[in-house]
Amino acid sequence: MKIALIAHDLKKDDMVRFAQAYKYSLKKHELYATGTTGLRIAENTGLSLYRFQSGPLGGDQQIGALIAENKMDMIIFFRDPLTAQPHEPDISALMRLCDVYSIPLATNMGSAEIFIHALERGDLKWRDIIHDLEKE
Ligand code: PGA
Repeated sequence: MKIALIAHDLKKDDMVRFAQAYKYSLKKHELYATGTTGLRIAENTGLSLYRFQSGPLGGDQQIGALIAENKMDMIIFFRDPLTAQPHEPDISALMRLCDVYSIPLATNMGSAEIFIHALERGDLKWRDIIHDLEKE
């Protein structure tokens, strides 16, 4: 599965703790992240991730573009609902595309934990079927 990890500044510590806690589950997947989030996760967990631009510099849009191509399977996006973000339109667009393409989107730690357990249980295998159908 291709999983994108994004965290706003005040949520980055939470994201690092989340990635540390679920390192061995996350390790089995192809990981992507926005610039700074990816750096923090890599430094603190040793996980390898592909890093896009920082969110405010276009990282959310890069992830959105992959969703539009059906090349992203899950988004874990720890949003900060209490701070205005300069790239709010990009954030809305990313979340909208998740809904357009039925891509699972967790916007906080509570739902992200459920997603990880779902991954472990194989609940998202339907995404593999879609990818296989695309190859035909
Ligand atoms: P960052 O981007 O990981 O580069 O900080 C995330 C964001 O703020 O959208």
